[in-house]
Amino acid sequence: MTSQAPAAARSARSRAKSPSRSSATDKLARIGLTREEDLVLHMPLRYEDHTRVAPLAQVKVGETVQTEGIVVSAEIQYRPRRQLVCLIRDDARQASLTLRFFSFYPSHQKSLTPGARVRVFGDVRDGYFGPEIVHPQFKVVTEDTALPDRLTPIYPTTAGLSQDLLRKVIERAMAADPKRLVETLPEDVVRRRKLWKFEDAVRFLHAPPPRLSSLTQRALDARTHPAWTRLKFDELLAQQLSLKAHRKARSARRAPVLTGTGALTKALLERVPFKLTRAQERVWREIGHDLRRAMPMQRLLQGDVGSGKTIVAALAALQAIESGKQVAFMAPTEILAEQHFRKLSSWLADVGIEIAWLSGSLPAKQRRKAQELLASGEAPFAVGTHALFQEGVTMPKLGLAIVDEQHRFGVAQRLALRDKGLAEAHQLMMSATPIPRTLAMTFYADLDVSVLDEMPPGRTPVATRLVSEKRRTQIIEWVGKACREGRQVYWVCPLIEESEKLELQTAVALHQELTRAFGDEIRVGLVHGRMKPDEKAATMDAFARGDIGVLVATTVIEVGVDVPNASIMVIEHAERFGLAQLHQLRGRVGRGSTESTCVLLFEEPLTDTARQRLKVIYETTDGFEIARQDLLIRGPGEFLGARQSGVPMLRFADIERDVELIEQARDAADALLQSDPAAAERHLERWLGGKQDFIKA
Ligand code: ADP
Ligand code: MG
Repeated sequence: MTSQAPAAARSARSRAKSPSRSSATDKLARIGLTREEDLVLHMPLRYEDHTRVAPLAQVKVGETVQTEGIVVSAEIQYRPRRQLVCLIRDDARQASLTLRFFSFYPSHQKSLTPGARVRVFGDVRDGYFGPEIVHPQFKVVTEDTALPDRLTPIYPTTAGLSQDLLRKVIERAMAADPKRLVETLPEDVVRRRKLWKFEDAVRFLHAPPPRLSSLTQRALDARTHPAWTRLKFDELLAQQLSLKAHRKARSARRAPVLTGTGALTKALLERVPFKLTRAQERVWREIGHDLRRAMPMQRLLQGDVGSGKTIVAALAALQAIESGKQVAFMAPTEILAEQHFRKLSSWLADVGIEIAWLSGSLPAKQRRKAQELLASGEAPFAVGTHALFQEGVTMPKLGLAIVDEQHRFGVAQRLALRDKGLAEAHQLMMSATPIPRTLAMTFYADLDVSVLDEMPPGRTPVATRLVSEKRRTQIIEWVGKACREGRQVYWVCPLIEESEKLELQTAVALHQELTRAFGDEIRVGLVHGRMKPDEKAATMDAFARGDIGVLVATTVIEVGVDVPNASIMVIEHAERFGLAQLHQLRGRVGRGSTESTCVLLFEEPLTDTARQRLKVIYETTDGFEIARQDLLIRGPGEFLGARQSGVPMLRFADIERDVELIEQARDAADALLQSDPAAAERHLERWLGGKQDFIKA
């Protein structure tokens, strides 16, 4: 069927640029089709039925049809805008149909000469002069021009790459080499799992027969048809095989053996004002053990907010430093990185380890200084944002990289880190968010996981109250009373993502409002992200000493702040915060012996998502459960950071819906590597061909 850009125009344009062959190759590459073999796996988005021609008289408005008629006229009209309008009529001259083109070439008009028979395909709508199709596909035919006997596939494509051309190259690629359709799975696997044969599935999906039952048609559209299942299975199998290959490659790589001396870690443990929990002891043993091996560690440390991951990371860092190596500690945001810097500096000051601070906002001179110290190997420990690993930063003796809140880094960033020579260093990733099961089986399957499943002692449960903004005055009174009884309060400003300036203004206004409300009796402090570090520190110290009763804060206090006497938290416009943020914030209270309360002020009306989130945070205090709910509300795509990164991942399988298939593919991968490594190799080659990777940085 003639596509919308007529052949003449197409070749004229391609002559102007480069020979048409190579430009088609470029375009195919643009959609990731670099090998002929990739074409075989390029699957249709949907299908059109061109196998039947409906008589013109039976064409109904609202349907997608193929019909035929004789051209009566084809004229360019100029009102209301330039367009080509063609009228066709059936042989009996009973029924007619208008074809309307708003974009067209002269050749369109030429082929639509009066008297010509045309076959058209498109959506029929109710036009001014009866039924019409806008931009139909059409071709000039004779009465006995054959009809296809298969559904016509519509493929994902890119500008300038016509469906006709795609169909042709795909057909050619399938026919050219029978190896491309050969079965990679052992027969018994196919039989036992009741899978379609690869060749059958591929041929079916590229050219399904017409007149499928409505059930089959629906399964085809929803990608639940057995032909789709086979492709999904193969894709997931390739992913599992690639993960296993990656693990094998990792075990063959050499990272520095970080035996340590115990001197620094012991000194740190003596200096911190607490004893490790049993969970921390266990996790620290696991990590310490990994670091003593030559296989690069890739371990994820999971633990709820406040479970004490930082001290474990610090111990790991010191073991590396004792072994004469350098350590990089990265956090996804400036604030979080700064908190770590301050905490680690205070812990390590007496131990005699100085920390180099690196962040995006550091003045050029200081940045250069830090970079030099790191490059010469003089500075053993760097803390910062991921700017740390951007251009200009080299750490020749890097032995361990620690990544906090790793799930907040996108997949692309993790890949970039992997390319930064981290392959030869040990890696410790930390997260307060548990990995959903399906992700653990797929994209993260290569990681070892340690879990901190115990909270440090001395935490008291926090009572959560949801209060409408309308009762704000009462809350202010209640807070005043609590302060007079010696309690301390965090009052968190509304989050205004669009405008930092507006957020700041709101913070200042809130500070004034509360200062007026509490008079001289209670001192109200203010911290926000725009303050200089020493100002911020001074205010925080005054709050920690108890000189400040109510601390108005923007979300800078989300992480790391530790004031045991603060037992009340008020969060304004709680409906604007994400679940993880609310959980982090609430974790700032309940650290002392007093009963703590978290007041979530919300403004009505609430959106459905906001209502769901507030319900979860009200009902649950378990961070893992909250994270699980968060994923249900947001979906795992967020978790992977894939939406921003654009990294190609699974094309056919869906990690939410295809759980069972994932499990089957995992088992099949093990079995295949055992029974037929060569087939596993062929399978990987077919699906990955060395070009694409299933992330496990
Ligand atoms: P997270 O896991 O959220 O990163 P942190 O490492 O920030 O948690 O620890 C939270 C707080 O608990 C910090 O003030 C930390 O010093 C303290 N802490 C850590 N381990 C213990 C422990 N074993 N006993 C008492 N307090 C601890
Ligand atoms: Mg932390």
